[in-house]
Amino acid sequence: MGAQILDGKRIRDEILAELKPRIAVLAGARRSPGLAVVLVGHDPASEIYVRNKVKACEELGIYSEKLTPPEDTATADLLGILEGLNQRPEIDGILVQTPLPHSIDSRRVLNSVRPDKDVDGFHPYNVGNLVAGVPGPRACTPAGIMELLRRHEIPVAGRHAVVVGRSDTVGKPMAMMLLHQNATVTICHSRTRDLAAECRRADILVAAIGRPALIRGGFIKPGATVIDVGMNRLDTPAAVESVYGAGSPKLAALAAKGSVLVGDVHPLEVAERAGSYTPVPGGVGPLTIAMLMANTVEAAEGHLRLAVHGMAC
Ligand code: NAP
Repeated sequence: MGAQILDGKRIRDEILAELKPRIAVLAGARRSPGLAVVLVGHDPASEIYVRNKVKACEELGIYSEKLTPPEDTATADLLGILEGLNQRPEIDGILVQTPLPHSIDSRRVLNSVRPDKDVDGFHPYNVGNLVAGVPGPRACTPAGIMELLRRHEIPVAGRHAVVVGRSDTVGKPMAMMLLHQNATVTICHSRTRDLAAECRRADILVAAIGRPALIRGGFIKPGATVIDVGMNRLDTPAAVESVYGAGSPKLAALAAKGSVLVGDVHPLEVAERAGSYTPVPGGVGPLTIAMLMANTVEAAEGHLRLAVHGMAC
């Protein structure tokens, strides 16, 4: 029997369908949830991400507002924009699209988002709540992965989870969420001595690296669950052939689209070794936006409770 493909699109659709009645309740009680997305400059990848986020809001009936200050915006001016959004009652969630231009003090900017409107879960207050196991907005990509595991009934407790990557946005919160679900967790990074050996110990392997097909079949324990967060673009025939082999149909896709998307896990070898795995595309990617929508709805519900009962939760 072949490996099971963990379908992120199906889980995304389930999550979004469950949000709809909650949005209707909010709209009936006060107003639709509101999300502000701040995109500084014109990074092409960021523009696509922001477009998709705004589209998801429109489809769900979440009010959204896109702010596009220019590339040369000063940190102080951006802080002013965020302070304005922090004060506006109809804005429940604020998302600052990263990466910000190098001239901007990213840490200061991200920390200036009010924690109750921090739908990315990046503010140190919310990171602290994650570590302490206190409810609050969680980083969207790892939160989506936990939903994917739960809804596919993949057990986590007592199992060995290996997370490759230690970014603040994916690797670290992922490890913490797995730990809270009672996995035994190992975190690997660029200084890990024998990455293949560490990965082979994983019942659940999460790759959040940003290196195309770095995780080979030999890194995977037979039957393991493999979650591929990576989104890497191959844009030359040699790069495509190095992953998919000479004469692969992916070369036609490259010619048609200019690039081929590949994860951090070798897409052909994972299918031969894993028990289940997320494809790229169609695995983790769709869940990130779904969890952003979920965080926005939860923020709006918190604000409604505050308005009605004068309490935060
Ligand atoms: P990041 O901030 O660049 O972090 C990458 C991590 O990988 C770092 O911790 C780094 O180690 C580690 N690493 C790099 N090379 C390695 C190697 N050869 N061996 C072992 N570890 C290595 O990246 P990120 O933001 O976490 O994103 C990771 C990937 O996920 C990217 O492809 C990104 O596009 C994708 N992503 C996808 C989604 C989605 O929705 N699907 C969301 C977010 C990110 P050091 O700390 O030692 O440098």
